[in-house]
Amino acid sequence: MKICFASNNAHKLQEIQQLLGPPFEVVSLEALGCTDELAEDQDTLEGNALQKATYVWEKYRVMCFADDTGLEVEALNNEPGVFSARYAGPQRDNQANLQKVLENLQGQSNRKARFRTSIALMLEEGEQHLFDGIVEGHIIDAPRGQKGFGYDPIFVPEGQDRTFAEMDSQEKNQISHRGRAVQQLVSFLRHRYVQTGT
Ligand code: IMP
Repeated sequence: MKICFASNNAHKLQEIQQLLGPPFEVVSLEALGCTDELAEDQDTLEGNALQKATYVWEKYRVMCFADDTGLEVEALNNEPGVFSARYAGPQRDNQANLQKVLENLQGQSNRKARFRTSIALMLEEGEQHLFDGIVEGHIIDAPRGQKGFGYDPIFVPEGQDRTFAEMDSQEKNQISHRGRAVQQLVSFLRHRYVQTGT
């Protein structure tokens, strides 16, 4: 059963294929023949995820899903949020983005933050579903760790003393926002389409 992930990020595609397993076959935008740059200009994560999934569904009428992720810092009115990729400017520079968060939090004692991933799913007949994955945590004073990407070096998840950038990807995926949202998507799809025999 083909399901399109509205992304060309090979790493994310492979990870989701592993989690979904057969009978699902996760295909990229490229595999559908779609080379369009998908717009994501809504003002919420859910809005962006839905915008991308709806675009693909309207054009190809296939089962598909899309995601959007943001870092929400409590003392910054939940910024950078939906602007996470471009917080420090259109060049999408991860290093500049995380430095901007640290600068904006200077002298601030409330360091609470969370990562949130929204996944929008469109079934073949046009039914929509949203899944939300959250990991709570806090922002440290200076970056630590070499793994991961984005804001990982400044984010310590609740109950841990290491940043996401100090964890292996497997360890991060088990507790991460994206891992949690994907787990919900997977259990929904398996429940709906796979006979368990129980
Ligand atoms: P996307 O929706 O997955 O493209 O993520 C948008 C932006 O959020 C990225 O450019 C990163 O800056 C940030 N981001 C997303 N996921 C993570 C993560 O797991 N760790 C750190 N930063 C992330």
